[in-house]
Amino acid sequence: MATNKVLVVDDEQSVATTIKAILELDGSDVTAVTSGKEALTQIREHEFDVVLTDLRLDDLDGIEVLHETQKLWPDTVAIMLTGYASLESAVAALRGGAYDYLIKPSDVDELRATIGRALERRRLRQRLVELEQLDRLKTQFLSMASHELRTPLTAVSGFMQIARRRMSRLSGATDVPEPWRAEAQRADATLEMANRQSKKLARLIDELLDVSRLQQGRVEMRLAEVDLADVVREVAERMQILSKGNQIETKIAGTAPIVADRDRIEQVLENLVGNAFKYSPENGRVELSLHASGVNATVSVRDEGIGVAPGEVEKIFGLFYRSPDPRADHVGGLGLGLYISREIVARHHGRLWAERNAGAGTTFHVTLPLAQVRSHEEARTA
Ligand code: ADP
Repeated sequence: MATNKVLVVDDEQSVATTIKAILELDGSDVTAVTSGKEALTQIREHEFDVVLTDLRLDDLDGIEVLHETQKLWPDTVAIMLTGYASLESAVAALRGGAYDYLIKPSDVDELRATIGRALERRRLRQRLVELEQLDRLKTQFLSMASHELRTPLTAVSGFMQIARRRMSRLSGATDVPEPWRAEAQRADATLEMANRQSKKLARLIDELLDVSRLQQGRVEMRLAEVDLADVVREVAERMQILSKGNQIETKIAGTAPIVADRDRIEQVLENLVGNAFKYSPENGRVELSLHASGVNATVSVRDEGIGVAPGEVEKIFGLFYRSPDPRADHVGGLGLGLYISREIVARHHGRLWAERNAGAGTTFHVTLPLAQVRSHEEARTA
């Protein structure tokens, strides 16, 4: 581990030397100076982890040492040394960005504990900066990679459509021998399979794109008044067609006008129903219900599937989270759908959460404010 570099500034030689000796015993590399001018020279030439300075120096104010440190080395932690008489200026120094202060004469343990805390704080601050930088890199990578993957995939899908059209022309042509037409039909069926797979790939890439756009705040919601009951009905019909055996039951009471980006709310509900299919037995029942009460409308998606463990009810909304349940092993996915859905719902001032059913399976609830409530709120806060 690198040695900690500490600068001690005190115009009383004995104080500077004593502090230096104590901190050196703890393994720090300590420079001790007895004037403000020398302190400024040191700060301009070296980066210290901690600067411990007296507030009242003969030649200048300790605050100047503090400011110069902050200007040149924002990560360096500054601690002020002060006598009782100058406690007020110590408080002013804290307001000005000093991390802590020590009253002279200070006890050895207190001195060591204060320096220890300061070093820990500096380490955590540096780690935070590194993690923020990594997070930015990850978001940039996500955005770049998903764009780069989307462009050729769009071209592949387009070419596949053209090839299928050619195949169907060939298989329907009367002037082409029968074996050739049969071959064209088989090729068309193969292309259809490839097309389904490329659609799956496109959905995954779109999820990655959504995550990077949401994280960069680049998702614009196109808001308009819509009836949530219509949206739920339409999603149920569309998803029933895609289902391989699951039965969707809808329970919708009346209308539920909301102000929303219809496409995005459909995306959320399709994701929840799609998950209910994915994590349920093939003939499992999925219930899609809507009820409005007071100020909110709530859509609930209930399945009889594998369920989520008690400790996972919140975790499943995390980025890239996938359940360790072996029964979900064969199910494809990146663990992004619920993260994206929760973000979209939050942008509609709503809430999305999951609940374990008393029997088997899970119920997901989406709560959104009803239109009149939202416009009233907006008028109030405008
Ligand atoms: P994906 O399904 O693509 O992995 P999601 O973000 O939609 O990503 O879901 C995250 C995880 O939450 C899934 O991997 C699964 O473990 C769990 N999960 C989601 N929906 C259900 C459900 N209806 N029943 C059981 N587990 C679910």
